[in-house]
Amino acid sequence: MRDAFRELVRDINSARDFQQIATLVVGRLTMILDSEVSSLYLRNRRTSNLHLVANEGFDPQVVSGLILSNSTGLVGLVASRTEPVNLSHAASHEAFEKIANLDESHLDAFLGLPLIDEGRTLGVLVVQRSEPTYTEDEVGFMLLLATQISSIIAFTLDSNQISLDEPNLVTTGTERTFDGLAGSPGIVIGKAVVFQSTVELDNIDRRTVEDVEAELALFEEALESVRAEIRRINEAMADHVGHEERALFDAYLHMIDDDAMAGEVREEIRINSQWAQGAVKQVFMRHVTNLDRAEIPYLSERGQDVRGLGVRVLERLQHIEDTKQVYADDVVVVAEEVNPTVFGQIPQEQIKGIVCIGGSVNSHSTILARAMNIPTVVGVTDLSLLGVEGATIVADGFYGEVVVNPSPETHNHYLSLIQREASFAAELEAITNEPSETRDGKRINLWVNIGLVSEITRSLDRGAEGIGLFRTEVPFAGADRFPTEEEQRQIYAEHMHAFEPRPVTMRTLDIGGDKDLAYFPIEEDNPYLGWRGIRVSLDHPQLFLTQIRAMLKANAGLKGLLRIMLPMISNLSEIRAARGLIAQAYAEIIDEGFDVKAPLVGAMIEVPALMYQADAVCREVDFLAVGTNDLTQYMLAVSRNNPRVAGLYQEFHPAIIAALHRLARHAHGARIGIGICGEMAGTVEGAVICVGMGYDVLSMNAANLPRVKWVLRNITMTSARRIVVRILKMEDAEEILTHIRSQLERLDLAKALPQHEHAELFM
Ligand code: PEP
Ligand code: MG
Repeated sequence: MRDAFRELVRDINSARDFQQIATLVVGRLTMILDSEVSSLYLRNRRTSNLHLVANEGFDPQVVSGLILSNSTGLVGLVASRTEPVNLSHAASHEAFEKIANLDESHLDAFLGLPLIDEGRTLGVLVVQRSEPTYTEDEVGFMLLLATQISSIIAFTLDSNQISLDEPNLVTTGTERTFDGLAGSPGIVIGKAVVFQSTVELDNIDRRTVEDVEAELALFEEALESVRAEIRRINEAMADHVGHEERALFDAYLHMIDDDAMAGEVREEIRINSQWAQGAVKQVFMRHVTNLDRAEIPYLSERGQDVRGLGVRVLERLQHIEDTKQVYADDVVVVAEEVNPTVFGQIPQEQIKGIVCIGGSVNSHSTILARAMNIPTVVGVTDLSLLGVEGATIVADGFYGEVVVNPSPETHNHYLSLIQREASFAAELEAITNEPSETRDGKRINLWVNIGLVSEITRSLDRGAEGIGLFRTEVPFAGADRFPTEEEQRQIYAEHMHAFEPRPVTMRTLDIGGDKDLAYFPIEEDNPYLGWRGIRVSLDHPQLFLTQIRAMLKANAGLKGLLRIMLPMISNLSEIRAARGLIAQAYAEIIDEGFDVKAPLVGAMIEVPALMYQADAVCREVDFLAVGTNDLTQYMLAVSRNNPRVAGLYQEFHPAIIAALHRLARHAHGARIGIGICGEMAGTVEGAVICVGMGYDVLSMNAANLPRVKWVLRNITMTSARRIVVRILKMEDAEEILTHIRSQLERLDLAKALPQHEHAELFM
């Protein structure tokens, strides 16, 4: 039995889709457990009803579409008790309920197991036979199987691969709330306009053709039409967004350049006599797959751009015209993925919001939406497009939430949030050029985390006073080989010139962990504890020296201070070795006649061990920068990217707070600067306590900067310090967060906090 189960789990893991998994499970269970019937029920998240999704043994005519209540019957009993139920006379159990037209009277033995993932009941797995009663051994194996398949089922449910009759369907007038990711800040209430392409790259088959020239001509025509459309939108955008964002359209045109994908499509048509649609699919999907394989968010986001572009070319090849012509004044575009060409289809002033089922925070469309200040929510995986067209829809781009058919109460609640945000936004705007200092005059450096040229304008517009973290791996990830010294110099110089005379903190290459380069793969069992950051740089001094030389040259002749920051430092000799190489590069650059000041060199504190050597580290560097994203994962032994343990990833954990405090004390004692550049710095709560602890640099995503600045300008150091003194005595993250928020409320600063967490409606 053990081998049969192991084989089943292996087959489940390699199954194509959920239906195949379900059929496999019920089919094999009847065999392995010598049963007459086996059934898999899934729980509808909205109604809690249990839907029979796979069965072996019952008459399909009778059980097809069977839905059972969560609270009655034996299956309901298993779900509500959330434990195995093993019976020898099922029909005589008090919870037994007869199912109409189904004869189970001969099935005395009943074994039901709940399917539970992360505490959530997903469904029930049942086996039944006339006799004998299921043994302890059989119960044990079923328990093991149920536990193993639950996470797979949770994934398929969450990624919307299974559609239970009612679950995701929005029915007229029923309020439904969906979670997604905040793509572009702001809240909007509008009318949903669904954009759903009937074309899918994956669905195009391969066909050979006789008339290759005719296919080439069709492709040229489609290509030209897409190019013309991109140019048209680019021009129309001139009044709305800066040239950096519009440069993304050039990137689009490059992608379908003759030297790039267009050339490859033509070759595919010519060499393999492919029809144009098949060739487009072949070439575009190859690029999407390569970009996805790199597993770098920035690249897979580009993959989505490529897919969108491919779909647009296919639509032109299939002569699919944009059917919608007349739009309301308050359109919220709802789509699987929003293709930037949407901006060409609807007058821009009428697009008030965007909601994407897929999409990602840094896709081209989301970047444009941010540049155009259109509230956007992406990754709303539970939302179905069915029934949404024309519905009133709320898109909350601050917290990544979507409400379809809001009740009058919800509607009014969001209206008041919109009004409050509008007046708050005006207040934020008014302080863009004001210094970031506390009410009692302490200057705090509010800097940005950056990696893309397109983020420069946005950062400066939001009042960034410097770059606190330049993630140099981002331009490395965008290339198809290591960028040369000159290529790096140009990218770094573009940022330094834009920020001149503000300081720029360049982090040396931080690959490894989840940041892999497609052309330099690092394969390890435990990458977060492996070859990462400075470890790679010191093993390849040629890469490191090239990067440092590029940074120094980029800084030549500028007033702005160059700060070089070393990632993933875990011992002093790494700092010394890196400083040695930096000194070597500096001497070379000076010898070569460049006018460059010696850079400051700092260590990132991401590895907890350094806390116990903080004094020694402070003697070796000019500044410390705490990377709480990694520090949190290493201190709490909780991966920063694993949704299963996301609830344990607590930046406000008392141990993290104590660590931040301790590091600040050491840095102050050594009279060197200390900053924070993890996500925590961009939260109102995190910013207040870091300032209270005496951090002098807070580096964050540009979008969070104005709000943080507002809070700091309205709080005194005394208040911030007082909050720190209190939270240092607290014992859990929730208590710490509640205290900070209540103090902000008391100080009348609560409007900068996540609004809906404080509204009665959402308590
Ligand atoms: C960090 O670890 O906090 C950090 C800022 O670096 P990254 O998120 O790039 O790993
Ligand atoms: Mg890090």
